[in-house]
Amino acid sequence: MPIINRIADFHPDMTAWRHDLHAHPELSMRESRTSAVVQEKLKSFGVDEIITGLATHGVVGVIRGNGAASGRAIGLRVDMDALPLQEETGLPHASRNPGVMHACGHDGHTAMLLGAARYLAETRNFDGTVYVIFQPAEEFEAGADKMVKDGLFERCPMEKVFGLHNWPQAPAGTFLWRSGPVMAAVAFFDIVITGKGSHGAFPHQGVDPVVVAAQIVGALQTIISRSIEPIEGGVVSVGSISGGDAYNILPERVHMKGTTRWYKPSVGDAIEDGMRRLATGIAASFGASAEVRYNRHVPATLNDPDATDLAVHAARTVAGEAKVRHMRSPTMGGEDFAYMLEAKQGSYLMLGSASGSNDPLLHHPRYDFNDEVLPVGASWWAALAEELLPRG
Ligand SMILES: [Zn+2]
Ligand SMILES: [Zn+2]
Repeated sequence: MPIINRIADFHPDMTAWRHDLHAHPELSMRESRTSAVVQEKLKSFGVDEIITGLATHGVVGVIRGNGAASGRAIGLRVDMDALPLQEETGLPHASRNPGVMHACGHDGHTAMLLGAARYLAETRNFDGTVYVIFQPAEEFEAGADKMVKDGLFERCPMEKVFGLHNWPQAPAGTFLWRSGPVMAAVAFFDIVITGKGSHGAFPHQGVDPVVVAAQIVGALQTIISRSIEPIEGGVVSVGSISGGDAYNILPERVHMKGTTRWYKPSVGDAIEDGMRRLATGIAASFGASAEVRYNRHVPATLNDPDATDLAVHAARTVAGEAKVRHMRSPTMGGEDFAYMLEAKQGSYLMLGSASGSNDPLLHHPRYDFNDEVLPVGASWWAALAEELLPRG
């Protein structure tokens, strides 16, 4: 069985839903329209129950199978939010919200799970309960964590939970899987360096925070190379430095911000300690001061080996053996599904979505979700439900 035939029938509908969501993107924790669209569709599919209000805009559709009521249950989860980015695709379904764009394909994820929900509500060829989970705020504010804290797994008791992300680096319709670590832990940091403003011609009368910032940027790169065991991975990236606005004025303050990534908790602690030590120590040595704000965003995404075997089996059912590939190494991308996997066994796969050989990647202003894979992802969700909750 490649794509489930009945789901292939939904391909034009899923494409239309995806284009509608794409044209109306919403930022993290502001997904009110998207949430309403999802609820309305689930209602029209005749799901048994719709749970709302988890993490504000989160939606869970409850679908009960036709089996002998085994009491078993699984969860299928997607994300719904968009990014603060100005779209440059020029497509007919391009974003109508200036500065907001579905550049990570969460529009496609949502459309795929809606397609699966429609199929599952129509066929109910499983024994137990499937929870289809539409999560807000994956990009910022960790909506998965909020849903867990709002009682997702108490209100929807389930054995396992599964997630997926489209992956434009891999050919459309392939699945990539990995047991254990698959996505990194993420933190965001701000460093504010305060010196003493002065005339650019009289630097000796001030304390120049620009020079201090330059020293700190270089030194931060030694955290990974000199204080982390080389075999362990980690990243420290300064993404922005701002301070001053004129040719001849040395500013009072410089604000730096960036992100760090790691897998092992001890590496995460070493990165944070190193950053605080270097930033404050270097600033002090120049007669300036540095304030470090360090926010841990998500833990590492860790796939359970047994759940991964089941996810891979369903992927092979849909795509065939040759299109289901092992990921040699985890990625340094982050994913708040990690919070659901901390609370519940499960697995997170990548679904290849390249339409050519040079597709714009995730978070790029010319990226667009590849509609070709909509029935592939939807069939995987449906296959998971039917394989994990077989009728007796
Ligand atoms: Zn993203
Ligand atoms: Zn994403």
